[in-house]
Amino acid sequence: MDTLEELGLLRPTEQKMWKDLKYSKISIGDWLWKLIHNRLRSGAYWKIVPGYEERAYCEYCQNLETMDHILFSCTIEGREQIWEMAEKLYELPMKANKRLSWTVPSKALLRGLCSLKLRNTIEKNNKQATERYKLIVSETAWLLWKCRN
Ligand SMILES: [Zn+2]
Repeated sequence: MDTLEELGLLRPTEQKMWKDLKYSKISIGDWLWKLIHNRLRSGAYWKIVPGYEERAYCEYCQNLETMDHILFSCTIEGREQIWEMAEKLYELPMKANKRLSWTVPSKALLRGLCSLKLRNTIEKNNKQATERYKLIVSETAWLLWKCRN
């Protein structure tokens, strides 16, 4: 809250904060829903829109701009580094017994991200690692998408 005041904004009431959160435009839940249902406009969509066909192709490497391409295979500078930073963030110290190695994200993993449960053993879910992983991977994917759209 102090940061908002430092920026010259009024301190919001608790009621206003909840209302703003509820109606926030920053919702990657919506974005994930669109990803799961192939509703994000990328190459295949633009390819059939008269006058916008050039949007179907990546302006950096000229490949068809699919979600896989944007998030995981484009050669644009910085894409790989963003995922490397995400991995480093995920691996910041966790309690030793909570630590799990990084799972390389993919579009398929993103589609099932909400249902993901990382496990220490077959019977034991690791809630801390799971929540950290879900947050970092979803935000990183959304960031890469937003940088291009
Ligand atoms: Zn590309």
